[in-house]
Amino acid sequence: MVVHALYNAVVIHGPGRAALEKLPLPEVGPRDVLIKVAYVGICATDLEILQGELGYYKNGMGRYPITPGHEFSGVIARVGEQVEALTEGMPVVVECIQTCRRCEACRSENWIGCKERTEVGVLGRDGAYAEYVLVPGEFVHSLPARTDLRKAALCEPAAVVLKGLSRLQRVLGPGSRGRCAVVGAGPIGHLCSRSLALRGYEVRAFDQSPFRLGYFHGSAIQASTELTGLEEFDAIVEATGSPQALQLILEKSRPGCVLLLLGLPYASQPFNFETLVGYDKTVIGSVGSAAADLREAIHLLPRLDLTPFLQKTLPLEQYREAWELFHTRQFLKVMMAVNPG
Ligand SMILES: [Zn+2]
Ligand SMILES: [Zn+2]
Repeated sequence: MVVHALYNAVVIHGPGRAALEKLPLPEVGPRDVLIKVAYVGICATDLEILQGELGYYKNGMGRYPITPGHEFSGVIARVGEQVEALTEGMPVVVECIQTCRRCEACRSENWIGCKERTEVGVLGRDGAYAEYVLVPGEFVHSLPARTDLRKAALCEPAAVVLKGLSRLQRVLGPGSRGRCAVVGAGPIGHLCSRSLALRGYEVRAFDQSPFRLGYFHGSAIQASTELTGLEEFDAIVEATGSPQALQLILEKSRPGCVLLLLGLPYASQPFNFETLVGYDKTVIGSVGSAAADLREAIHLLPRLDLTPFLQKTLPLEQYREAWELFHTRQFLKVMMAVNPG
């Protein structure tokens, strides 16, 4: 594969300061893999980094400059000599959260507890708003040949959903089949509703936007613009990050309800914990994903109708337009084609 010495990348230098730049290709270390990016999805996290509002950038853990982009697919361009089972030309996706796999937290699979972790395009490692991404080979997952790379860019958000659902499933029990509500029909809420329906749950999706709910038309998923009837559900997934929605769910859910929170950020809110204790409710938080979730996502995506996610794709050079479009909420997902192949 021909690899040019300079490549285009969007670099965020500080809050509100982003530019498309030509960067020299990084050296491919013995354990590294250089990936030619095919598609990258725009995520709210990217915009939070741009605005300096992401928690990591407020608490000093995250540092500029950084190239954003963690929802991506690509093709291997170079492989370090110690990397096994990966070869040039393979279609791949990459784990966003990259842990040390040695510390006490990692040994107990508490990945988010790893203090050494980096997150591609988010924390300490450049992401995929770029023609190339360099990552350690151990976090790279090959895709079946002829995979649609535009759809594959959705593996990362799907893995985030699957990690949350596996935590939810642990509480509900492996064979449970009940009624689930999913609050929020953005990309995460949408994938969550579809995944739960596929598992046999009766699902109702809630969103203020009839447009977003319209994507469920013709599926078994019910849709509602009013956040009411919450006492009907065995489990409720919150995927908006809205403290008001969360407050309502905590209060109105039925006794014994299990609540999975996937939204960020939730602002602090006065809350009476007796609502939980007095009614046997369980609250689960979940963020990010790990290797097993990404592998599951690779198998899940071909079984889902992803057309709603593929309505808008721009070239990398138009990243500012892509960000503008993201804000309009006209599309469930805005993607950028970097090297569409
Ligand atoms: Zn994301
Ligand atoms: Zn660790």
